[in-house]
Amino acid sequence: MSLVTVGTVAFDSIETPYGKVDKVVGGAATYISLAASYFTKEAKLVAVVGDDFPEAELKYMRKRGIDLSGLQIKKGEKSFFWSGKYHENMNQRDTLDTQLNVLEHFNPVLPESYKTAKYVMLGNLQPGVQMKVIKQMKKKPKLIVMDTMNFWMDIAMADLKKTIKKVDVLTINDEEARQLSGEYSLVTAAKKIHKMGPKFLVIKKGEHGALLFADGKMFFAPALPLAQVFDPTGAGDTFAGGFIGYLAQTDNISFENMKRAVIYGSAMASFCVEEFSIARLKHLKKSEINKRVQQFVKLTRFSLK
Ligand code: AMP
Repeated sequence: MSLVTVGTVAFDSIETPYGKVDKVVGGAATYISLAASYFTKEAKLVAVVGDDFPEAELKYMRKRGIDLSGLQIKKGEKSFFWSGKYHENMNQRDTLDTQLNVLEHFNPVLPESYKTAKYVMLGNLQPGVQMKVIKQMKKKPKLIVMDTMNFWMDIAMADLKKTIKKVDVLTINDEEARQLSGEYSLVTAAKKIHKMGPKFLVIKKGEHGALLFADGKMFFAPALPLAQVFDPTGAGDTFAGGFIGYLAQTDNISFENMKRAVIYGSAMASFCVEEFSIARLKHLKKSEINKRVQQFVKLTRFSLK
């Protein structure tokens, strides 16, 4: 099933306790589309970059089967740039710089072939832009998943709430769930967030896994304990890409299948953090993904006898 993803395609500069990289490929939509491309051959991207973005990287995305006809390349302009530094514990990071550049005046235009997609992934970016994508869909999508972050809660809460009202699944981290709901307990926060619109809510807790909430039901998936986390950048987006990619591939949005999607998303995220930028996602085999999903099964299965 086809999947339309909107989000940033960007340059990142990242510092972790293991090293530092400057101006590497990043962006929410990059991670999402790459992760999803391991599940659906109909991943379509809507984004904007400047003419400073390397053609070789776009070529690689096309090679993975990602449709880039919705990608705008702005002549003489610079791509979105983000820079962050991780603390020793790797769970917290400080944003050092955010340069919107081309994103400042981004007006997403969906090619005709995108407008009937069954699955829509609104990657993290201005909530007003996310809304413009929803409005261009000709048919109501079967599932709209939205990711966002505290940055937009701080500067665009009213717009954010309007977009949240239109989506089926919201994926945010625990601190963002608290900020959005004004509740400390994640169970109470989930109840409040359901009332804002989304029937399903995924709360990501970094190395402590992810929670799925729906209709008073709850599911918990751990993160795979890894010997070394190299760079957590993009883990949330990669999770979202694996999650919606699996749902699009199976075309089943029941709660039971969403549980599996959470595990596939978690497996993809566990690869993402093993190397800087999108490096690990570039050399991944289907067999490795399946093996890792089996590790999640082993990690959580137990018997009462
Ligand atoms: P994650 O680690 O999953 O939260 O995502 C990291 C990616 O999000 C990086 O590659 C950044 O380019 C991108 N990013 C950072 N800040 C923003 C923002 N304010 N809006 C959109 N994308 C962002």
